[in-house]
Amino acid sequence: MDKIVSLCKRKGYIFQDSEIYNGLNGFWDFGPLGVELKNNIKRIWWRDIVHRREDVAGLDSSIINNPKVWEASGHINSFTDPLVDCRNCKQRFRADHLAEDQSIAESEIFEKGQCPACGKKELTEPKAFNLMFKTFVGPVEQDASVAYLRPETCQGIFINYNNIRQSSRLKLPFGIAQIGKAFRNEVNPRNFIFRSREFEQMELEWFCYPPRIEEQQSPDDWFEYWKKSRMEWHLKMGIQKDNLRYRDHEATELSHYAKAAVDVEYNFPFGGFKELEGIAYRTDFDLKQHSQVSGKDMQYFDEQSGQKFFAHVIEPSLGVDRMALALICDAYQEDEQEGQTRVYLKFSPAVAPVKAAVFPLTKDEKLVGMARKIYERLQEDYLVTYDESGSIGRRYRRQDEAGTPFCITVDFDSSEDQTVTIR
Ligand SMILES: [Zn+2]
Repeated sequence: MDKIVSLCKRKGYIFQDSEIYNGLNGFWDFGPLGVELKNNIKRIWWRDIVHRREDVAGLDSSIINNPKVWEASGHINSFTDPLVDCRNCKQRFRADHLAEDQSIAESEIFEKGQCPACGKKELTEPKAFNLMFKTFVGPVEQDASVAYLRPETCQGIFINYNNIRQSSRLKLPFGIAQIGKAFRNEVNPRNFIFRSREFEQMELEWFCYPPRIEEQQSPDDWFEYWKKSRMEWHLKMGIQKDNLRYRDHEATELSHYAKAAVDVEYNFPFGGFKELEGIAYRTDFDLKQHSQVSGKDMQYFDEQSGQKFFAHVIEPSLGVDRMALALICDAYQEDEQEGQTRVYLKFSPAVAPVKAAVFPLTKDEKLVGMARKIYERLQEDYLVTYDESGSIGRRYRRQDEAGTPFCITVDFDSSEDQTVTIR
C-alpha cells in the first residue's frame, strides 16, 4: 500500500490536503491525473446509468438543505458512532473498533478496556457522536440557524421525488441518479482515501412497485437485478474478477431503513475484501418519512391497479474516490526489466487519465513536426500528452507509471512511409 500511496503522490494522482500546513486528517486533493481518473469514472457511470436508460433521470441537488431533511431521514437522531474518551491522554476511539480489537463487549469497555494509545485503563463509557458536519446559515450563529453538510446524496433525490416525477412524466419503475460530494465527520479516517471525511458519491434511487402488486416486478427481483448489473459494470471497468465478490449484510448490521443489503467488495491491499459499492433495499422508509414530516403527499397513484401507495426503493451507491482507489490498486503492477523494478499502471483505456503519449524519436525538425501534428489531432478528442525530452526508454517509463495505455513514436521511417510505432 505504501508503494501505491507514494506513486499517487509522485505522478500527481492524490495529494494530502493542506500538505504545506501538515495536512488535515481525512481530507485529500486530486492532482492532474487524479481529477482525470475521477472524471472518467463519473462520466462512464452517468452515461451507463442516465444517458443509456430511458427510465432514469439525473439531478444535482444542494449540499446544504433544510435541517428538517435530516430529521426526517433519521440522521439527526441515529447517524452516530459510539465513542470512548481516554481520561488520561484525552484521545478518542470508536467503541466498536476498540471492543473488537480487545475481544470484549462494548458494555465492558468502562471496566476492562485499555487505552490503545497510552495503555491506561481510564476509558469513559461509550457516548453517541453524530457524524454530520454542522454549520450555520446566515450571519448569526444560533441554534435556529444550524444546518448540516449532507452526509449522503440520496436525500436530495427523495426530497425532489415529486418534482422530478412530474416534470419528467415518469411512471414506475424509474430511477433518479445523482453524483455529488458528501461529508462525514469520521472518528478515525483511515486507509488512504478509502474512508475520508469529504468524499463524492454516485447514487441511484430506483423506485419500484411495492411487493405483491399484481403483474409487477417485486422489489426483491429489482434488488437481484441491480446486484447483478452493478457487478457487471465493475468488470466492464476493467477490475479483475478475482478481486471482486459479494457480501450479504447480516440482519444485525442493516441500517435502520434497509430490509436487505449487499456489498460488492474489492480486495484492497490493506486488510483484504472491503466494501466498494453498496446495494440496499430501502423499502418505502424515506418517502414515507418525508411525506410525514413535510406534510406533502409523496404517494404514487397507479392507474392500472387503481391503487395509491409509496414506491419502494433499491439503491446502488458507489463512492467515486473509493472506485478510483480500487482502480489504481487493481492497475498497479511491478515487473523486472534489465535487473530493475518497473512500476506501471494497467488501466483499461476507458478509465486511463491520459489516453496516449506522442514522442518524436529525436528532436529532428521533421520528426517533431509530424509528432506535433499527430498530437494536435488526437487532442481534439482525447487527453493526450507530448514528450520529447530524454531517451525513449525513459519516456516510456514515465507513461508506464502514469498508466497511459498507448505510446506513439514517430521515427525516421515515419516521414518516408507515413507509419508510426504504437506500443
Ligand atoms: Zn490514553
